[in-house]
Amino acid sequence: MSDSKNNAAISHEVDVALVGAGIMSATLGAMLRELEPGWSQILFERLDAPAEESSSPWNNAGTGHSALCELNYTPEVNGKIEIAKAIGVNEKFQVSRQFWAHQMDRNVLGDPREWINPVPHVSFGRGEEQVEYLKKRYEALVGHPLFPNMEYTDDRAKFDEMLPLMADGRSASDKVAISWTKAGTDINYGALAKQFLASAKENGTEIRYGHEVTNLTRDGQKWKINVKNRHTGETSVIRANFVFVGAGGMALPLLQKSGIPEIRGWGGFPVSGQWLRCTNPDIIEQHAAKVYGKASIGAPPMSVPHLDTRVIDGEKGLLFGPYAGWTPKFLKQGTWFDLFKSIRPTNLMSYVGVGLQEFGLTKYLITEVIKDQKARMESLREYMPNAKDEDWELVTAGQRVQAIQPVVGPRFSTLAFGTSLINSSDGSIAGILGASPGASIAPAAMLELLERCFGQKMIEWGDKVKEMVPSYGIKLATDKKLFEEIWGYTQKTLQLED
Ligand SMILES: Cc1cc2nc3c(=O)[nH]c(=O)nc-3n(C[C@H](O)[C@H](O)[C@H](O)COP(=O)(O)OP(=O)(O)OC[C@H]3O[C@@H](n4cnc5c(N)ncnc54)[C@H](O)[C@@H]3O)c2cc1C
Repeated sequence: MSDSKNNAAISHEVDVALVGAGIMSATLGAMLRELEPGWSQILFERLDAPAEESSSPWNNAGTGHSALCELNYTPEVNGKIEIAKAIGVNEKFQVSRQFWAHQMDRNVLGDPREWINPVPHVSFGRGEEQVEYLKKRYEALVGHPLFPNMEYTDDRAKFDEMLPLMADGRSASDKVAISWTKAGTDINYGALAKQFLASAKENGTEIRYGHEVTNLTRDGQKWKINVKNRHTGETSVIRANFVFVGAGGMALPLLQKSGIPEIRGWGGFPVSGQWLRCTNPDIIEQHAAKVYGKASIGAPPMSVPHLDTRVIDGEKGLLFGPYAGWTPKFLKQGTWFDLFKSIRPTNLMSYVGVGLQEFGLTKYLITEVIKDQKARMESLREYMPNAKDEDWELVTAGQRVQAIQPVVGPRFSTLAFGTSLINSSDGSIAGILGASPGASIAPAAMLELLERCFGQKMIEWGDKVKEMVPSYGIKLATDKKLFEEIWGYTQKTLQLED
């Protein structure tokens, strides 16, 4: 680029620039402040407040994803339940718990009730096939060190006692089963990000709200960051040694602008979401669990339906969903051109490849988009047969950008479910694509970023990293004693004990 913007005077030099005030930047900023307190940090957020996009509590489901109840992590293949993905996600969530507990010990984080609360996680199966699957899944997980105290029942009386809201009005002939654990959590990632950022500000991080990063260009080993004040229109250029693109859905276009070869071929497909939110406090009180069922055939893992207790600002809530919708925006507060602007000659075939292969996804999206309120309530009634229209309102959830990963061969591309980290080979810039398990595993994702971008430094930082995450480098799945120790410490510190 040789435009005038790029030649503008540098107004500021920093060690670390963070783009976006969501949970990812907040987490990375906290890690780097502890590892390198002398490094200067600046954060740019296009909106006027932190965590207003995906990390906002009503924009996501607030599940502490650890595969306790989400069935997409335990697929059945040739009659056998595979648990490798479940173990992987659970391991990552243990990293989160340790990191958060450590940040509480250091007084970076304050009252945990503001952002983490114990809520049982329940898996729900309905009909012969699902009940059989659920039993097999339970048998595959019970006794595993990372999944202690799981229980299962297909006894109707027990089901009715445990989940009265889901039992009320259900036909006696309806075959159902559940497996559950009390070890689950509901997390307000917005409140968590805000606590991190409040501490960041106190400790010298400069945070500029209402400032949008418009371009990223290499400047030798460093990066020039073009920033626009969205209120005054004023522009500035900042130079940073390291840039983290924690811009949620906008990470793809910003990484494309940086021109790093690692982003070539990647694409993103926006999927918006909606919830039904319960407005009747009597109904909300009758349910205390996150109940996850099976996704419909062809539906992506993000679409798994759940009837979900939330705890937001000290108040209990209840939501059901998500229902998928569609807009070409990459952020809830994005623009109608986001998708079209992200299509480049280098990733066109990735979009075409996914379009040709993913009939299931296309069919699922069309079915969801044409669903009216009556159809939405019918889906809810599979979980809560007596649900009444007047007790539920439709709210818009956060915007997801499903990452499309280029692959070599005739397929051209594949959908990359999960959270994908992209970084330049010299480690001077990195960003996160994708969503779920997203926020739940932010600390593990950011540790992976540190390993990839600051490889040599990780040796020097070793002791501090071990303080942050005592199990760092150890698979808890194979060390039951350490898992129990860490579980005890995090339960106590995060105030999750009964
Ligand atoms: C419907 C839904 C349900 C979900 N459920 C769960 C769940 O139950 N559990 C879970 O763990 N995860 C869940 N997720 C995923 C989770 O919400 C995300 O992974 C996580 O919030 C992403 O955090 P982030 O910081 O990367 O992005 P965000 O929180 O979106 O933050 C990005 C920020 O960058 C800002 N920004 C963008 N572009 C620019 C720019 N150019 N300049 C400056 N600022 C910019 C945005 O305004 C925004 O504030 C869900 C997501 C959705 C959409």
